[in-house]
Amino acid sequence: MSELAYPYEAPASQALFDRAAAVTPGGVNSPVRAFRAVGGTPRFMVSGTGPYLTDADGREYVDLVCSWGPMILGHSHPEVIAAVQDAVSRGTSFGTPGEGEVALAEEMVARVAPLEQVRLVSSGTEATMSAIRLARGFTQRTKVIKFAGCYHGHVDSLLAAAGSGVATFALPDTPGVTGAQAGDTIVLPYNDLDAVREAFRAHPGEVACVITEASPGNMGVVPPAEGFNQGLKDICAENGALYVSDEVMTGFRTSRAGWFGIDGVVPDLMTFGKVMGGGFPAAAFGGRADVMAHLAPAGPVYQAGTLSGNPVATAAGLAQLRLLDGAAYAKVDAVSKEIQGLVSGALAKEGVAHRLQTASNMFSVFFTDRPVRNYEDAKTQESFRFTAFFHSLLADGVYLPPSSFESWFVSTAHDERAVQKIADALPAAARAAAEATA
Ligand SMILES: *Cc1c(COP(=O)(O)O)cnc(C)c1O
Repeated sequence: MSELAYPYEAPASQALFDRAAAVTPGGVNSPVRAFRAVGGTPRFMVSGTGPYLTDADGREYVDLVCSWGPMILGHSHPEVIAAVQDAVSRGTSFGTPGEGEVALAEEMVARVAPLEQVRLVSSGTEATMSAIRLARGFTQRTKVIKFAGCYHGHVDSLLAAAGSGVATFALPDTPGVTGAQAGDTIVLPYNDLDAVREAFRAHPGEVACVITEASPGNMGVVPPAEGFNQGLKDICAENGALYVSDEVMTGFRTSRAGWFGIDGVVPDLMTFGKVMGGGFPAAAFGGRADVMAHLAPAGPVYQAGTLSGNPVATAAGLAQLRLLDGAAYAKVDAVSKEIQGLVSGALAKEGVAHRLQTASNMFSVFFTDRPVRNYEDAKTQESFRFTAFFHSLLADGVYLPPSSFESWFVSTAHDERAVQKIADALPAAARAAAEATA
């Protein structure tokens, strides 16, 4: 990989990346981290404090990734760290029930009205995989409807026209997923209720569920059109299918009650991850009590996990959720708006065609002059401009998601100094985007 194409070097990160590549495929444990979409050396981070990350070369960045969403209070929040230390001091895993997991489930159920019962797992992937299994077990049907550009983790049956890393690499599909696994998945264009009605007409009595990102953030930020989620819910109800709202990204981020707190559409099942784990591997699925009653050991649909409800992870998640009150969300929303305005202003000043799209405090920039309503639209953006924009910001100490198909995230810790650092870096980045060529 050529260093010379980029305006600065990261020798310590490069040395770690070389070591990593010898023992780990592509040098990373999750594909988008490898910088393949933008090129250059992925930064190996050694510490995080508030809105800042510090890399192995000792350079500091304002973090606009926030671990892809979870770090909504910023890094190393003292109260979250204290809760973790307290939990760790009592042991790290028991393989038995414990009070921490009950308290976390109670906090979630109290916040999200449609969440009557919840089962804790360790990743968002596990949550969506289990929700799909439960939907199939409950309805005794096989087919699942998903939307192109929506990412629900690397669940075999859901890796068809998925977003996130798959969007970044434009993989049409992935080897290792069989025709049988993908064959029961119906992929439709996002924001198109007619396509959903048509699919139900074509497969009467066969659709177990529709799964959708509550507000998609894995093809960049593409919020649901007015009435889309309610329409999905209504079509599911008319056809005896379950409406599964994937809130792994939006849950406890876009509001106290996640995206449900914004659009009020009542799902049958929901999935969570990211923010609810406070930076640890904790995720969940839940919803209607009569559906959840089909889950083992209460019912016949099997689901389990050695580390599910882990005491350290649940302590971190609970501490984080308890700090996320109305004032915290107001702060995240306000700083998000401020940064959105700065980004859009800088690009407009350089005459760069762009669309800033938002979903509460989640936002992203598409380098196109047309609205982006679905994955096809998202793919028409001029991603080469993003690459130039990204590297200019990185050089000036602002860490964006290394792909134009991802949401940007901020936290309560993004203060005036952090915002000023972004503001200072933006004019050069906007110029780089303007001057970029394909
Ligand atoms: C991140 C994400 C997932 C997958 O969660 P993991 O913890 O990475 O397995 C699923 N759905 C959505 C909407 C996500 O953003």
